[in-house]
Amino acid sequence: MSLEVDVVIVGAGPVGGRAAKLLAERGVSVLMLEEHEEVGRPFQCAGLVTPSAMDAVGGHHTVLQEVDGALIHGPSGTLVPVGTEGTLRTYVVCRKRFDQFVVQEGMAAGAKLWLNASPASATVSEDGVKIDVVRDGKTVSVKTKLLIGADGAHSWTRRQFRMGRPKELMIGYQVEVTGYDGRDRWLEMYSGSEVAPGFFAWVIPSGFGTHRIGLWSTAERLQGRSIQSCYHDLINHPLWQERFQNVATVAEFCGPIPSGMVKTPVKDRVMLLGDAAGMAKPTTGGGLGPGFHQIQCIIDPLVAAINEDGLTQRRLRTITKKPWEAMRKEQDRARALRNLLVSDCSDEKLDNHFRNFAHPDTLSLINRIGDIEKPVPLGMALLKNVPAFRGLAMRAGVRLLLS
Ligand SMILES: Cc1cc2nc3c(=O)[nH]c(=O)nc-3n(C[C@H](O)[C@H](O)[C@H](O)COP(=O)(O)OP(=O)(O)OC[C@H]3O[C@@H](n4cnc5c(N)ncnc54)[C@H](O)[C@@H]3O)c2cc1C
Repeated sequence: MSLEVDVVIVGAGPVGGRAAKLLAERGVSVLMLEEHEEVGRPFQCAGLVTPSAMDAVGGHHTVLQEVDGALIHGPSGTLVPVGTEGTLRTYVVCRKRFDQFVVQEGMAAGAKLWLNASPASATVSEDGVKIDVVRDGKTVSVKTKLLIGADGAHSWTRRQFRMGRPKELMIGYQVEVTGYDGRDRWLEMYSGSEVAPGFFAWVIPSGFGTHRIGLWSTAERLQGRSIQSCYHDLINHPLWQERFQNVATVAEFCGPIPSGMVKTPVKDRVMLLGDAAGMAKPTTGGGLGPGFHQIQCIIDPLVAAINEDGLTQRRLRTITKKPWEAMRKEQDRARALRNLLVSDCSDEKLDNHFRNFAHPDTLSLINRIGDIEKPVPLGMALLKNVPAFRGLAMRAGVRLLLS
């Protein structure tokens, strides 16, 4: 058996599904390959989708809970509330339904989906890519003009074509629980070296009285501790243990969060999208919004190149260079500011920052400028306008220059 299509997408996750829709609705023939028997399982995600990402893809029916803000706790308990009661900041979705919706949208636009299918080998030549796909145990030969790897953090495509590694690989751990005593429509974040070295832990309401409790960090910062032990330190923390005393776990997830765009996201006729390309935000770990933006911002010139059969490496690089370099730069700047203000701080320093964040003038600045999608302007405004942070401005400037 053999098949010929314009584009093969490895991975029918949210980013692969979104790419399939944008391509197929512009008349490109698309085949998605999904190694599992079902779309949307297994998943590792807190399910936060920003309003702008949701508006772009639709899928409001997959929302479990709306969130107005975050109660952010410093290592010694200083509370910084960010958000306004009744003003939506973000959605919490059922990831399985969300992923299935996005992939179905791709199929409704005309893309094909093969479940239980993954590439065994792929060879690029001047006129296309030949892929041997194992589907339901049988090998099928597929020829395509463009191979897109949207196959997640451990991307086969990225490894097969040696396209580099994401700058950082965070490890995320999450449990879904009943019995957490939280504030309606608000998520909570906990910080400090005991609970999430260099990063933060989260508690997110997920509808029906359940919450998602998770945290993320890096192997270097964990220094031999397991991520689960941080979770136990969080729920037994003397400052906060009362809220966790009645929690009962109903599900448990653990997974990588790749952040920092790989060196070569396009090579010959191969392109990486989403987690495969290392697109998660360094400040929140959110990968859905950046993955969607990554394909949206190149779609028209990409389709033109596919239709003209002009998919040379040079043309692909020209198409992706400006918009993707802007994304890479934004990621690098956000990481530099995150390290300066949070990740590279001792608990003592972080407590100091929290006391400054909690000042009414600073809070009003955060609420005015704070945008989960664009953390850099907020970081810069804090350094410029909050007297206590001005001392950091010079170091921030140096880090931003070097980022
Ligand atoms: C604990 C945790 C919490 C998170 N919380 C959030 C959050 O709240 N909000 C947010 O935006 N992001 C969050 N993320 C990140 C988010 O889950 C990812 O960024 C997002 O899933 C990336 O989508 P993707 O389509 O690129 O990859 P994936 O969702 O990983 O999809 C890849 C797809 O490819 C398939 N696949 C893989 N290899 C192959 C192969 N060889 N052949 C065929 N198919 C293959 C997989 O089965 C999967 O279906 C979180 C991550 C973790 C670990």
